[in-house]
Amino acid sequence: MIFFRNIAGVFIVISDIGKVYVMMDSFDNGRLLPLMEEFYTLQGEGFNMGCAAYFIRIGGCDVGCRWCDSKLSWNADLYPPTPADTIVNNALKYPAKTVVVTGGEPLLYPLDYLTDELHRCGVKTMIETSGSHHLTGTWDWICLSPKRNMPPLDEVLMKANELKVIIENEDDLTWAEDNARVVSQNCRLFLQPEWSVSQNIMPWLTEYVMQNPKWRISLQAHKYMCIP
Ligand code: SF4
Repeated sequence: MIFFRNIAGVFIVISDIGKVYVMMDSFDNGRLLPLMEEFYTLQGEGFNMGCAAYFIRIGGCDVGCRWCDSKLSWNADLYPPTPADTIVNNALKYPAKTVVVTGGEPLLYPLDYLTDELHRCGVKTMIETSGSHHLTGTWDWICLSPKRNMPPLDEVLMKANELKVIIENEDDLTWAEDNARVVSQNCRLFLQPEWSVSQNIMPWLTEYVMQNPKWRISLQAHKYMCIP
């Protein structure tokens, strides 16, 4: 028999006769989550930029963006399975009553328990995701940031409230338009310059938005504000 744990913490057994069994869910169906960090701050990006929220960063990501500014989040094994109830109680200590679940890729985990508990306590739920895994949880706001190397599922594209495409070069504009064709009519559209090249690409990116005004620019304002 071969035993291993996949990135979502599920123990898999492959038997001697080739049968595959799922042994147990070490995250207890979302009652535990590998919490990397949690903090109260202002949303720095996209439609809700400037709004106060409690951020929950969940460890684990299998997307592997070259320019990822959160590479320490990739390995979920580094972060202790933390009771979702503890996370909810921590969020309730702050006035905003809005939680942003980010990562990593939070959709690696079943998030229904977390969002149900947050809603039961009157907290709004928002998620930042690449959309590359099935949608779990109930969300008041879905910010979809699609990645070329692991494209989003249609089910997430269709439900996204906000499409935020990271732009590093002009080819990314084609990728942005490909995704914009699939999202709903009400979805807000943002182009966000990749931080390390933002000064260089800003001239043609701003020109693109002036010529294609369905898009807006998103900046990583938290980096200018020097907040997390
Ligand atoms: S999806 Fe997000 S966390 Fe994962 S590698 Fe890409 S930027 Fe980093």
